[in-house]
Amino acid sequence: MTITDTHTHLYSEEFDQDREEMIQRAIDSGVSRFFIPAIDSSCTAAMYDLEKNYPEHVFLMMGLHPTYVKENYLEELQHVEEELAKRKFYAIGEIGIDLFWDKTRLPQQQIAFRKQIQLAKQYKLPIVIHCREAFDEVFEILEEEKSPELFGIFHCFTGTYEQALQAISYNMKLGIGGVVTFKNGKIDQFLNQIDLKHIVLETDSPYLAPIPFRGKRNESSYLLNVIDKLAGIYNLSAKDIANSTTENSKMIFGI
Ligand SMILES: [Zn+2]
Repeated sequence: MTITDTHTHLYSEEFDQDREEMIQRAIDSGVSRFFIPAIDSSCTAAMYDLEKNYPEHVFLMMGLHPTYVKENYLEELQHVEEELAKRKFYAIGEIGIDLFWDKTRLPQQQIAFRKQIQLAKQYKLPIVIHCREAFDEVFEILEEEKSPELFGIFHCFTGTYEQALQAISYNMKLGIGGVVTFKNGKIDQFLNQIDLKHIVLETDSPYLAPIPFRGKRNESSYLLNVIDKLAGIYNLSAKDIANSTTENSKMIFGI
């Protein structure tokens, strides 16, 4: 059984005390593929270290996170472009729009999102979308940019059934993690109407730990709790869920 965590911030300082043990715990539980979203240029060196230490397990993305679109965002986008020109990445992410923290930078977030979608098309890479309180704004840009070549993952999907269908219509898979185990998470109510071929697994660790770890630090081995929940929703075995979602992740990332 190979389980794929399509979204984990393994470089986070939350793991500084026990990163090696935590990664080993995940691998021992069957979670052996880690896809690492970028935030901004300050995490690039740590991402390269991870890849060096776990070359068979760690796969890197490059991108500028919407919450980190600040005054210097054009320089940050320049960094993204330079790194992409230098070496192989498996996706552009995480990118998108976040209006939860700061609504004033919406125009700059829109520019950064569009620019990075264009880079994804240029490099024929998937995008990994971060969308928080911004479904309309994200869909508006996807509607303009949609094409058979644009594809990817709607990370930490928390929308409605209709929004799920809309995301899928733009060639996006839904990234499902701890939220599906929450009592008020809502997506468990309709997920059985969404074909499993549209689903990939993610932790977003260290954030969003599933029940029974809700509120604590999240880690990749906790994907087993997410898989159990999905096995119930889809009436399938844990092994089926693990294998199908790993296959889906291979279709997206090409590895
Ligand atoms: Zn993330």
